[in-house]
Amino acid sequence: MKDFMKDYVPFKPSKEPIYQNRDGDMLYLFNGDRLMVREAETGYEIPKRDEIKKLGLEIHYDQCLGAFGEVDCFGGIIEDEPLGYSFVDLRTYSFGASYDEFLISSKAFLLSEFVRTNQRCGICGFPMTMKEEDNDRAMICTNCGHMVWPKTSPAIIVAVTKKDKLLLAHNKMFANGMYSVVAGFVEMGETLEDCIRREVLEETGIKVHNIKYFGSQPWAFPNSYMMGFTAEYLEGEIKVDNEEIVDANWYSKDEIPGLYRESVSISTRLIEWFLEA
Ligand SMILES: [Zn+2]
Repeated sequence: MKDFMKDYVPFKPSKEPIYQNRDGDMLYLFNGDRLMVREAETGYEIPKRDEIKKLGLEIHYDQCLGAFGEVDCFGGIIEDEPLGYSFVDLRTYSFGASYDEFLISSKAFLLSEFVRTNQRCGICGFPMTMKEEDNDRAMICTNCGHMVWPKTSPAIIVAVTKKDKLLLAHNKMFANGMYSVVAGFVEMGETLEDCIRREVLEETGIKVHNIKYFGSQPWAFPNSYMMGFTAEYLEGEIKVDNEEIVDANWYSKDEIPGLYRESVSISTRLIEWFLEA
């Protein structure tokens, strides 16, 4: 990696190792959706290649992700759970890792799952293999040449404000008493703005305007991508759909603490943006 890029672009994607420091490579290994980690006092640590070698683990679908800092990172799937290690889902991992480390674990999971679930061609059924040329990732059919690129399901998440209040909704999947901002999947062929207008109206009966981009977050549960926005109340009375959303209301800053679960997710960032405004 060119020196000037180190801080500007902290993670450099690459299908081939960049630094060739084999024993020091970081290995993000999954059993199902759980990541293999070592529990240290400072949080979770990702095992390095030399210790994985000693364990003699068989790694499936292993892929070089690229490099973080000056360390090459790899992802793969294992069937064993060796003693002395913990296996944690990515949400749990996020509480004991830095945000960059969490993003690398998401990359590793997405890429390993992409390779695992594209072993056969959807057209002719022959084996697929990773495209070798160039630095893009695609699985290519060994018989008919059909190519599949990683698929991502875009979703919007939006903080709707009405003067000094924030719209929060309780989804029936949430724990009791927990609220969040409105979110939903983008339909095929839909713009993000139309999706925001539709989701907020469907779930809460509210129309919005002044939609502004806030930020984004890869969300590997299993392969979504959250695009965050802010929007302002335009018109309407709160009327929940009672299918996904069973309660919604406008909350002022002093009413919100305790209503939402703090996490690495962009929903927490949106709520905290409102609280700190
Ligand atoms: Zn084929």
